[in-house]
Amino acid sequence: MCIFCKIVDKELPSYKIYENEYVYAFLDINPCALGHTLIIPKKHFVNIFDMEEQYAAEIFKAAIHVANLLKEKLNADGVNLINNSGKEAHQAVFHFHLHVLPRFKDDTLNFLQPTMKVDSQYLEDLQDKILK
Ligand code: AMP
Ligand code: ZN
Repeated sequence: MCIFCKIVDKELPSYKIYENEYVYAFLDINPCALGHTLIIPKKHFVNIFDMEEQYAAEIFKAAIHVANLLKEKLNADGVNLINNSGKEAHQAVFHFHLHVLPRFKDDTLNFLQPTMKVDSQYLEDLQDKILK
């Protein structure tokens, strides 16, 4: 059984933030920011590629709740929602999880720094490729 399934089953400890029939949210053990939270489906999916839509919807509904919670309780000024799917995308735990990263006015997290310079043609071509 994977470590996040064990967390759902209470075989491993975690710091629960929110839970319903479908999802479980808990604090990241190695946080990048104050209040860094993970939201996981209670059913095991490896990542976005094998996710069921109903669970995806429940994850996002929980994200709204958790984001508001972090805003109200920790005075977060914003949040980043991040999912790493696949080892090339730096997925380390192979049970789907959505990172909710609270952001604060003067924090120095810059993981979203753009590293590619692209023009509108590049974006149009990419859009065509994805939509075809
Ligand atoms: P990712 O690179 O998207 O797969 O991220 C995995 C995340 O899970 C990391 O941020 C870890 O700090 C976090 N993590 C791993 N084990 C635990 C755990 N037992 N409890 C809470 N967070 C964990
Ligand atoms: Zn699992």
